[in-house]
Amino acid sequence: VTTRILIVEDNALLAASLVMGFSEDGLLAEAVASGALALARLASSSIDLAIVDLGLPDIDGMQVVVRTRAAGIGCPILVLTARDGVAARVAALDAGADDYVLKPVAFDELLARVRALSRRAQAPRWPPLAHGKIVVGDDLSITAGDQRAVLSPKQHALLAYLVRREGEVARRAEILLEVFGYRFDPGTNVLDVHVSHLRRRLAGFPLVITTVRGLGFRLEVT
Ligand code: CA
Repeated sequence: VTTRILIVEDNALLAASLVMGFSEDGLLAEAVASGALALARLASSSIDLAIVDLGLPDIDGMQVVVRTRAAGIGCPILVLTARDGVAARVAALDAGADDYVLKPVAFDELLARVRALSRRAQAPRWPPLAHGKIVVGDDLSITAGDQRAVLSPKQHALLAYLVRREGEVARRAEILLEVFGYRFDPGTNVLDVHVSHLRRRLAGFPLVITTVRGLGFRLEVT
């Protein structure tokens, strides 16, 4: 199955070079230059993965992410932007992005991240996962009693991984490989950002995620 990539980028030169780069690697890539076109294309559901620039001429790329998730579209989204800083990174992941890459990026690194995201997206589905009062559904939801939250695909996969390992320390390298598909250390705090986001989103749920310094994270159902 060929991965179809949508590149949302108003810099025509960059968009063209990305399309060419992905094509040379056997992936199908196409580019659009505005948020409105991106939303229309994503709604057609033939896109497997989107790379979204934040500075677009019409709506902000963050809005593209938010509206895509609001429409129930779960394809992996990688934000590619020049906006640096933890706040921007957190905002993108909060909005429902799966990864965040700063411009300028080496094409090989971008390709590795795209492959990692699409590998995870093609992972088999699984039956609802229950632990104590917590049920992690395969529809991006988590419920506990009458509490319910819907997560981004990456956060949902991270949560499911930690719930499966309940009470144990899940090591950073294992999580990066199993959840993010990284066979290398991406050298960013992407994992920590996802974990702190999960903690905030799931405040009030009967679970706690502890950071085990130098090792990883441990989820406990309370
Ligand atoms: Ca731009």
